[in-house]
Amino acid sequence: MPEHLERPALYIDGAWVAPVKGGSADIVEAATGEVFGASALADTDDIDLAVAAARRALTGPWAGFGPAERAGVLEAFAAGLTARRKEIATLVSRENGMPISLSQVVSGIAPGFITGYYARLAAGMVAEDVRPSPTGGETLVVRQPVGVVAAITPWNYPQPLAVMKLAPALAAGCTVVLKPPPETALDAFVFAEVAAEAGLPPGVLNVVPGGREAGAHLVEHPGVDKVAFTGSTGAGRAIGETTGRLLRPATLELGGKSVSLVADDADLDLFAARLLEVSLPNNGQTCHAATRILAPRSRYDEVVAAVTDTVAALRVGDPLDRETQVGPLVSAAQQQRVLEYVALGRSEARLTTGGGRPDRPGWFVEPTVFADVDNRARIAQEEIFGPVLCVTPYDDEDQAIAIANDSDFGLGGVVWTSDADRGLALARRIESGTVGVNHYELHVNAPFGGIKASGVGRELGPEGLEPYLVTKSIYRR
Ligand code: NAD
Repeated sequence: MPEHLERPALYIDGAWVAPVKGGSADIVEAATGEVFGASALADTDDIDLAVAAARRALTGPWAGFGPAERAGVLEAFAAGLTARRKEIATLVSRENGMPISLSQVVSGIAPGFITGYYARLAAGMVAEDVRPSPTGGETLVVRQPVGVVAAITPWNYPQPLAVMKLAPALAAGCTVVLKPPPETALDAFVFAEVAAEAGLPPGVLNVVPGGREAGAHLVEHPGVDKVAFTGSTGAGRAIGETTGRLLRPATLELGGKSVSLVADDADLDLFAARLLEVSLPNNGQTCHAATRILAPRSRYDEVVAAVTDTVAALRVGDPLDRETQVGPLVSAAQQQRVLEYVALGRSEARLTTGGGRPDRPGWFVEPTVFADVDNRARIAQEEIFGPVLCVTPYDDEDQAIAIANDSDFGLGGVVWTSDADRGLALARRIESGTVGVNHYELHVNAPFGGIKASGVGRELGPEGLEPYLVTKSIYRR
């Protein structure tokens, strides 16, 4: 087992500094429950220092970096992340239990890939354009960085969710205070090291892991111009109240309870083969996981059997083992929360597999399926964020859509059908920011985000760059 990992300092203004009040957090291995590292933890004083550094950096040498130079730095940043992909992937799996086969892609490869994409967008950015005025003269439309960005991230996909904020922010010329959560503080410091190597001037990126209080302080700090948040709907509402009061722009990527709508002509072999990646990625700790499976009454028993058999056969184990399909949850608290939902599910529906806690250390929960779930049941309406699936029958397509849309959330969703036109028609009717047909996969060049209680705003794609820019119209004649 690798050595104890110590990160005693925060990264502020291009330097490693001890937290003002000496805050630190143990980092716990999800698979064993044992401490394997420690991280500096920011308090409000440290947030103040980080925001001050980011504000200074906004008018320092960074202001002189044009789009092409910013693109160059981002290319180097991307290369630095990619060079360390194995180390980062392993660290994340140890912190939050993500199976290494998934972590190698989403923690290892995706961050460099996303950063490279925004480097290219920066290189091609049109910083200003001239528009003739209908009444004579013209307007110079200038696109400027919005300013200091507060980037607040969760523990479930700590690397790509940070990069989905950092990369467009830096491409736009902003400066950033990144506040990762304590659970996955260690992997976040890699951003600081890579930033320094890539030639980002001091203060342009500050990395200050901290808890809820530090996050709330950052959100309402007078030195912050824009908030980019991914996390729970509850925290998103609190942040939205603050940013609404302050009239401060905010992107809020929140929770989900997405559907997997199985049409009566679906290829159930394909559906079963992709169940893990669509409905239980990252042990169910995925905002867009399609955990509500809607099955046509004509094939209901077949679908329930396919889901039950597939889930029962999943290999649960050490997240660092390449054969593992389902690892542990991030923390004891998360395990407890999920087990409480499983207990609730036993009273609301019919358990077909799982329902227990494997007899091993770490924060494991058995992959679990409930059938005959009424869509109004709490297990169908609330985000569980663990390996728990619900199967609900429907009579016809209209009812399926009504059930699909009877949710507070609207983030993901998948439609299974052998008819491409029918798939598209159904996808159009699902109230959600993203929908897949016969699979589900985020694309770097397409906007990702939710509607309803799943959030406000989009990340990825050119749309993911816009929130970091503000236009100024200069009228002249
Ligand atoms: P969380 O909301 O508890 O915490 C997320 C981050 O926000 C952490 O850094 C935390 O310290 C900080 N935070 C918490 N309360 C805050 C407040 N009032 N003000 C400022 N910062 C605050 O969420 P979590 O448990 O870490 O993550 C899981 C949640 O994230 C799930 O609900 C999941 O669906 C959601 N999520 C959404 C997306 C998406 O893109 N829509 C992606 C991944 C996760």
